[in-house]
Amino acid sequence: MRGKRLILISHCVLNQNAVVRDWERAVGAYNDIAMVLLEQDFGIVQLPCPEFSMLGEERPPLTWEEYDVPPYRTHCRELAAEPAKQIQEYVKKGYQIVGLLGIQESPSCDTTRKRGIFMEELLGLLAAASIHLRTFDIPESYRKGQPGDVLEQLRRFCNIITE
Ligand code: SF4
Repeated sequence: MRGKRLILISHCVLNQNAVVRDWERAVGAYNDIAMVLLEQDFGIVQLPCPEFSMLGEERPPLTWEEYDVPPYRTHCRELAAEPAKQIQEYVKKGYQIVGLLGIQESPSCDTTRKRGIFMEELLGLLAAASIHLRTFDIPESYRKGQPGDVLEQLRRFCNIITE
């Protein structure tokens, strides 16, 4: 019965309680984004939040440069190791990894512009195993309930690979 199609998502797509205080864009989860993924019958792999586990709930907003220090790199690499291992196992067993949802402009979880440090480490571990993922970043303009054309863009992203 299993569809063998998975999508990886940044932790805060489903849990806005993890973001820097006052930067949340939903009460709990990005329900409308999650609905698009559920419509597709994907298995959803929620990645850990590297900033929360390093600096906690009361952390200040920091820049990419401020996060780009050896202890945070090491933390991100260690945190990424487990999901990277799981993805390798799924790929080995013939599962399709549809892609990875990141967060635009996050110093940890952007995947497409100035790549976030956690995503650099995760994608680096996967690349070393010859796994290269397509990515889609939730744009800065997105707000739950006011998604603009983000849901349509996400549907296109999901469908290109699953048609
Ligand atoms: S570090 Fe990543 S998962 Fe955590 S709040 Fe920032 S963007 Fe979301």
